Amino acid sequence: MTAGKPAGIPEPQLDDLYQEIIFDHYRSPRNKGPMPDAMVSCQQDNPFCGDEITVELKVADGVVSDLMFDGRGCSISQASASMMTEELQGKPVDEALEFAAHFRGLMQGKDDDGEWDELGDLEALKGVTKFAVRVKCATLAWSTFAEAAGQASHDG
Ligand code: ZN
Repeated sequence: MTAGKPAGIPEPQLDDLYQEIIFDHYRSPRNKGPMPDAMVSCQQDNPFCGDEITVELKVADGVVSDLMFDGRGCSISQASASMMTEELQGKPVDEALEFAAHFRGLMQGKDDDGEWDELGDLEALKGVTKFAVRVKCATLAWSTFAEAAGQASHDG
């Protein structure tokens, strides 16, 4: 016999899993810069939280051929940037921009039609949508990417 917990109090199992994914990206960021020969480099910050993200990229034949980030800030902002580089690397620029807009929409609660399930590690950020003040942390890298990719395609 084990001592039971009071009934009716749900265990936040999924949240723990999400937290684990976020901390994994935070501790071991993927594709963290700098990229000395970047075509474009853009920086944005989130003064509410003190997050700073720089996105650096190269575009070849309309495809995001190299994508890195650099920065500092809270675990959500850095983990989101790390996941973003994995997600968008190798995508055509227009598809990457579309995805970034889609993801920002999801973070802002515009859509919750099961689409989160197909986002891999990014699904870990779904819990952040409940905390309006932290949504900017999660979308910062993506809006910085949009600025950088816009410049890159403008330059040719
Ligand atoms: Zn933050």
